[in-house]
Amino acid sequence: MTRSDAKRQYWIRWRAAHGRDLALAPIDRRAAAARVAWARRREQFGPTGCSAAAVDRLRDAARARLARQGHPNAKKTHCPRGHKYTAANIYRSAQNRGRQCRACVTLRDHRRKHQKLVAAHVRRLRVAMFAAHPDRGGTSAKFIQARRRYLEAARAA
Ligand SMILES: [Zn+2]
Repeated sequence: MTRSDAKRQYWIRWRAAHGRDLALAPIDRRAAAARVAWARRREQFGPTGCSAAAVDRLRDAARARLARQGHPNAKKTHCPRGHKYTAANIYRSAQNRGRQCRACVTLRDHRRKHQKLVAAHVRRLRVAMFAAHPDRGGTSAKFIQARRRYLEAARAA
């Protein structure tokens, strides 16, 4: 199960829980009806829109679900990019907050390193372009070449 699968299941559950109420209102009025309902709830119960009892109930239900089924992320077998979560491919932070995909961490590190190198290259080409300007002792042809090299590199970066 990937993250997008988990999200889809979440929305299926959400619609099953709330869709019927929303379906009672005409389509073009659903959003307005929901806003009015939430405004009324906020007036009654404060910023959460839920009574203290309801909050307790939801928290207890969430804890019970966690104890029964484990954490929803534990069901995921692949990272959002599709790498498999194996013992060798999992990185856990010192705080042990969930799993990180080692392949993705490596990819990200490489990408950042690459971006830094490319940025440095573009900066060097820019300096070379300035140096090739006729005002600084270069020629028009050399400046045009240097400018083209700089713009191409900057566009690609
Ligand atoms: Zn990954």
